[in-house]
Amino acid sequence: MDHHFTGRSTDHDAIGCELHSLIEELYPICRSITGDGFRKTMQVLQRYIPLELHEVPTGTRVFDWTVPKEWNIKDAWVKDGEGVKVIDFQESNLHVVNYSIPAHETLKLEDLRGRLFTLPEHPEWIPYRTSYYTENWGFCLRHDDYLRLEDGEYEVFIDSSLTEGSLTYGELFLEGREESDVLVSCHACHPSLCNDNLSGVTLAALLARQMCEEPRRYSYRFLFIPGTIGAITWLALNEDKASRVRHGLVLAGLGDPGGITYKKSRRGDATIDRVVAHVLRGLGRDQAVLDFDPYGYDERQYCSPGFDLPVGRLSRTPYGTYPEYHTSADDLSFVSPTRLGESYRALVGIFSRLERNQKYLNTNPRCEPQLGRRGLYSSAGKSVKALLWVLSLSDGLHDLLDIAQRSGLEFESIHEAAVRLLGAGLLSPEEGRQDGS
Ligand code: ZN
Repeated sequence: MDHHFTGRSTDHDAIGCELHSLIEELYPICRSITGDGFRKTMQVLQRYIPLELHEVPTGTRVFDWTVPKEWNIKDAWVKDGEGVKVIDFQESNLHVVNYSIPAHETLKLEDLRGRLFTLPEHPEWIPYRTSYYTENWGFCLRHDDYLRLEDGEYEVFIDSSLTEGSLTYGELFLEGREESDVLVSCHACHPSLCNDNLSGVTLAALLARQMCEEPRRYSYRFLFIPGTIGAITWLALNEDKASRVRHGLVLAGLGDPGGITYKKSRRGDATIDRVVAHVLRGLGRDQAVLDFDPYGYDERQYCSPGFDLPVGRLSRTPYGTYPEYHTSADDLSFVSPTRLGESYRALVGIFSRLERNQKYLNTNPRCEPQLGRRGLYSSAGKSVKALLWVLSLSDGLHDLLDIAQRSGLEFESIHEAAVRLLGAGLLSPEEGRQDGS
């Protein structure tokens, strides 16, 4: 019973600082959905966990999609008539529209304007833009700098390549006692942006590191993938593994100042949905549980009707609802060690409960068993109450979380009661119908 992931020895302040320094190390790398920036990111994570890297060739058909050409970039700039760089990729990799094709030309400001993107409402921030599936090029810049551009000719240079290559993703499988998997997925394709999604990437990596060191009931599969195309690729190539997923979480946007938000799986009543809601209720800060909707991160693919996996999404402020989202303001100061540490603690709480949550059968269901004879009735009233609730609802239909909810007692005391009853032979695990399946 106690051979579960518990996360009990974690110092959450220390982990928050460690997460933030790892984000700081990964922040400068120019990542994309393919290419060396993504690989380099995975290599950094390999210092923490034995991550396996997969390469899927350009042109591979994955359901309705095709793995795109591989993109790499060395440099990019725009120079004015005097030869002064007015936009410089070396200053921020957000300056280039991600996946821009190579370019070297001179053009008038009026022709350049159509290829420039700014945020007039936040004139000091650089927007983050991509053009993955349409071959194009462009630059992103501060609106303030845009307004300073004078009429005349500009030389544009983008030293990028778009070639036959591969899509990279990282995978870590940790085998548990049961052949049921928990999927933890995060997108790792964004360049210099911290909350979206270096927070999710680093949390998944350090959580995986801790799981490597502890006993596990479930098997865990951690995926570090490019958004959308990565999830589609993994699902297309791993339908057998997908069918083993009993619970799952997409991690994204977990370092910002807002409260924690959980978006339910498409099923809406999966065990993971109930466990996360239960843990968030206990956190006492402004947490929220949202219903499923088909827009969002990679839960879109995992929850597509042909898979319908019990995968929800854990974030803090939902993406798109904070102004810093997809801008240069999503930087190292937007994510804090405190919030990262809190998110880590929430994840540990979720997985340690998930590991212990189970359905049991009362082996003596006809009238109450004689607890006193077994030394179980001597203790105070509250724990007897927990014993009676567990006996009453252990009919193979209710798991410990249901019993905690219905009794109004803490999950911890319900779990402790189950351990004692198991020890006394009054409960047996319900093997046939595992939760979530
Ligand atoms: Zn994003």
